[in-house]
Amino acid sequence: TQLIKPRIREILSRKLPSELVNLLPKHWVQLGDVLILPLREELLPYKKEIAKVYAEVLGVKTVLRKGRIGGEFRETNYEIIYGNDPVTIHKENGILYKFDASKVMFSPANVKERVRMASIANSNELVVDMFAGIGHLSLPIAKHCRARVIAIEKSPYTFQFLVENIELNRVQDRMTAYNIDNREFKGENIADRILMGYVVKTHEFIPKALEIAKNEAIIHYHNTIPERLMPREPFATFQKIANEQGYETELLESRILKRYAPGVWHVVLDVKVFKK
Ligand code: SAM
Repeated sequence: TQLIKPRIREILSRKLPSELVNLLPKHWVQLGDVLILPLREELLPYKKEIAKVYAEVLGVKTVLRKGRIGGEFRETNYEIIYGNDPVTIHKENGILYKFDASKVMFSPANVKERVRMASIANSNELVVDMFAGIGHLSLPIAKHCRARVIAIEKSPYTFQFLVENIELNRVQDRMTAYNIDNREFKGENIADRILMGYVVKTHEFIPKALEIAKNEAIIHYHNTIPERLMPREPFATFQKIANEQGYETELLESRILKRYAPGVWHVVLDVKVFKK
């Protein structure tokens, strides 16, 4: 990889005005055979040429221009700037993740959390993933911990990949997927462990998580928190809502996953809850 950047620069310095060469991306993300490239505005008139060179040097079939992730379904909406097939199979920690990288988010920065999940549960647990995506966090639990998993995903498009991934990873015998809003999920008092891998508004879903939880359970609670409220938050809000619902809480662990926006961090708490 040491030689890749000079090689890309060398080829593109013959095609681009010299002042733009220094603006070429030095970092990128490769997921399976798809490349996600952050491109500055100034480079956009040359995006096709640039993408082609990165694709050829790095040996990928498709290049996407990195953009913002947004909306309820956390969609990427990345523009295809080279190739025509944004669906890829990315292998990580023995798991195959198939998805459309131009539409569905897959955060490289969450890799530690995906790996941590691979040894978090016992095989006799029932785990409910309330924001399953393509199975980012719950496939490692089904595959490596061999626990039973219920995965809930609201977006019909993302759900198709979740179902495919359950088969690709051969965990159909212990992982079941529902294409519904998790607030419509009917199970009560069933889960030993709950994953809440969402951002911005995760607190709104705490009452539902407690309904799904057994009288004693562990909740992996993600949220995005402004730095000035840390470390009090997000636990203070979690505790307040849980107390109102008749639960005691014990904070087992708190981790920062990544910077979400300037001055805002994506945090995950492991919280033990007990019904009073
Ligand atoms: N949990 C994974 C992770 O942390 O890598 C995926 C996270 S992604 C940010 C959140 C997923 O939750 C999206 O696929 C979105 O469509 C889904 N989602 C959002 N609201 C939902 C709801 N009310 N019920 C079920 N799924 C929901």
